[in-house]
Amino acid sequence: MTDHPQGLHPDTLAVSHGYDPHAHHGAAKPPVYPSTTYMYRSASHAKDVHRAYFDGVPMPGGEAPGHIYSRLGHPNLDMVERRLAALDRAEDAAAFNSGMAAISAVMLSALRPGDAVLHGRPIYGGTDGLITGLLAGLGVRNFGFTDGLDRDAVMGAAREAAAAGPLALIHLETPANPTGAITDIALVASVAEEIGARQGRRPLVVVDNTFLGPFLQCPGEHGADLTVTSLTKYAGGHSDLLAGGVSGDAERVGPLKLLRTFLGTSLDPGVSATLLRSFETMGLRTERACANARAVADFLAAHPKVRSTSFLGHVDPESRAGALLARQCSGTGSTFSVRVRGGEAECFRMLDRLRVIRMAVSLGGTETLICHSASTTHYAVPRERREAGGVDDGTLRLSVGIEHPDDLIADLRQALEAV
Ligand SMILES: *Cc1c(COP(=O)(O)O)cnc(C)c1O
Repeated sequence: MTDHPQGLHPDTLAVSHGYDPHAHHGAAKPPVYPSTTYMYRSASHAKDVHRAYFDGVPMPGGEAPGHIYSRLGHPNLDMVERRLAALDRAEDAAAFNSGMAAISAVMLSALRPGDAVLHGRPIYGGTDGLITGLLAGLGVRNFGFTDGLDRDAVMGAAREAAAAGPLALIHLETPANPTGAITDIALVASVAEEIGARQGRRPLVVVDNTFLGPFLQCPGEHGADLTVTSLTKYAGGHSDLLAGGVSGDAERVGPLKLLRTFLGTSLDPGVSATLLRSFETMGLRTERACANARAVADFLAAHPKVRSTSFLGHVDPESRAGALLARQCSGTGSTFSVRVRGGEAECFRMLDRLRVIRMAVSLGGTETLICHSASTTHYAVPRERREAGGVDDGTLRLSVGIEHPDDLIADLRQALEAV
């Protein structure tokens, strides 16, 4: 793992890392470069630029390589990638035009027909669709594990997967949505090591860090080879852009950047600039959202009409999950689920009374969002699989924003009267 550049704190890196004003006419803040194509100074300069891009040969005189065409790369993308890599404490990062574009690139790059993929359960619907749809159709078999704290359970599933084909990739989400179940990343990395020694090829360990983000968890420090993040959520932070990122060692991230040019899923200059600005406040927003989430979860957990919440701050520190949380994460996050005493009808009545909290899917924005999981995010998941994954008809998902916590609690208090 790479240390933070210049030994700076993430809050400082998030504000200015990756942008050098003196390379941009002294502009204190990054200009946006919408140009799709970049001029060469001479025919031989053109050849040098292409040789640098495709073969990694340094430019004559140590000059910076320069850009060719914006799908291949552009200045605003470079800024985002340098900042994301620094925040994830990784050597390199690649940015994509959505979280799913990032996840698809990783899977399409690592998996071949005949390979097996192992994943934690439950898993994001888009990722599930990719694995069970496109990849299964290409001959990649998939296997799952549920208890990411139990080495025997993970190893058992990994062995089964390795027997079906070489196990090429292990994908996990921690904490998982909507159960809040956490997976021990170091444990999964050690399973990958053991399987690798047997099959002669170590499976790639990929962690989807969307629910916590770099201010609360750096999966690379615990043994993940690649960290994928839907930057649409906490990094973008205002529910107004789509973006995704992959961080890790340069030798793993480089091929993903090349694949991205063929898939055509690069992040555009305008969105890159908005995302770069959003990184500046990510630390502040994360801190406030976590504090608000605690206040809201404390209120909900004590409410007679609430059965339970999955808020990570309420996990018993003496439990195995609690000990892992202390080791692996530096905060609770602000997205969790709430099970109310009742089913769909009670939930619907409550939701329709909310005045401050908005009803929508997604998470990680400045505004607090709520949705009834079974009829929205998990609509297409068959009841049995849904309930096994912790989503019953009384489950709501909350993404707590940065408003005043008293207003959120008052809104929930009056709405819960309808349950
Ligand atoms: C939203 C989300 C994604 C997909 O990200 P997009 O930016 O919407 O493509 C992937 N994983 C998790 C956990 C998510 O919440």
